[in-house]
Amino acid sequence: MYKTTSTNVLVKISTHTSEAQRAEWINHIRWIMRLPLEGLSIARPVAIVERPRPGYVMELMDGLLPLSALLDLSECSMLGGADPAEKLSGFLETGGLKRRVALLGRLARLLADLHGRGLAFGDLAPSNVFVSQAREHAEVWLIDCDNLCFCSRAVKDSMITPDYGAPEILRKESGVNTLTDIWSFAVIAFRLLALSHPLKGDMVNDGGPEVEEAALRGELPWVDHPTDRRNEMSTGLPREIVLTDRLRSLFSECFGEGLASPGARPSMAAWAAAFEAASALTVLCEASDCGNHFFAEKSLQCPFCDHRNSPENHLILTHRLYAPELRDPDEELDPGVWVKTGDYVVLSLDSPLELRRSPVGTSLYSQSDPLLSIELTRTGLKVTPCDGCEVSINRVDGGDPFAITRPQRLKSESRRGGRWVLHLGGRDSGHPTWTFKW
Ligand SMILES: [Zn+2]
Repeated sequence: MYKTTSTNVLVKISTHTSEAQRAEWINHIRWIMRLPLEGLSIARPVAIVERPRPGYVMELMDGLLPLSALLDLSECSMLGGADPAEKLSGFLETGGLKRRVALLGRLARLLADLHGRGLAFGDLAPSNVFVSQAREHAEVWLIDCDNLCFCSRAVKDSMITPDYGAPEILRKESGVNTLTDIWSFAVIAFRLLALSHPLKGDMVNDGGPEVEEAALRGELPWVDHPTDRRNEMSTGLPREIVLTDRLRSLFSECFGEGLASPGARPSMAAWAAAFEAASALTVLCEASDCGNHFFAEKSLQCPFCDHRNSPENHLILTHRLYAPELRDPDEELDPGVWVKTGDYVVLSLDSPLELRRSPVGTSLYSQSDPLLSIELTRTGLKVTPCDGCEVSINRVDGGDPFAITRPQRLKSESRRGGRWVLHLGGRDSGHPTWTFKW
């Protein structure tokens, strides 16, 4: 891969030694140029170079760097740091938990879209995932898409990055396909979050290269296997801190049963939804010397520094479907009218949130229309409906809902811990709601 004198233009030149291999490669690149990749953040070939050696031209936006640079920086400080703060410094400098989850959510969604078009990426590794250099952004681009294929493609060893290749590829039983993409994604995600490889526990780290090769071929259990602890890991960040329960169960499916049975690996759409759900649970710790984000899944106590964050600065919104058509006139309490979906989000002080028709963490979220924005400030809770959206609010213990047609604020002085419902839709038919205590 080479930079050129033109801004944002890169060139990749064939490294094949024989004329026949070069011709085959160029044919494959021409085929990739015709693939339906519109709207996907993939730097694809836009023109073929014929002389002096075959290659192709691609465009890539400015201000990106490979994910491998983030990983190297984080793992270096983890291994070399003298105390816990120094060990974590690389993790924090590269954006901490919140940014990692956002980047992985974007990457998962991109791969889910690609798989949805019947295509597999082929050689997914941190060196060909490019992300925003600036910490406040979370752009994700895939480059080096030479191995893109429909369904499946045979590969040569040299094309695969061993740490990220699925076990069945390293056992030479399979080419690349969407299930091997899922494996590679899961390894990247685990490594970025836990700062350790999911197959390289103490047994591998203390053993020779042959033990590592056996682990990568899937001959040893993964590091968090619940019963077979042969390869457990004493390094890396604790998974209970860096993963939500939902993410932990996806990793467990992928590296547990999915180690030997590729079909058991969770789909990219499931990963994308779980990372988007995790994003909605991240909270910035208030302690001045901490600077970490954490998942407010079970409590507001920061697991990095143990500081108890103030409940006044956070509001938990719980998603329920309201289904009046299920009402049974003979039943006093209308069981079934309010259906809890298990989705929730944390609203933090001065961090406005957009609520859509489908809640974050569901497969429809990414295509769902925004209905309102909600913001917690020192003066109260502000709800701003989007144009033309039917939104209303009421206290659970009294009163009919009143329609919100312009920005409205529940004042801080009125916050007494009572339950409220925000209705996203007309009162007479079924619609989603968010409930919270105010
Ligand atoms: Zn903290």
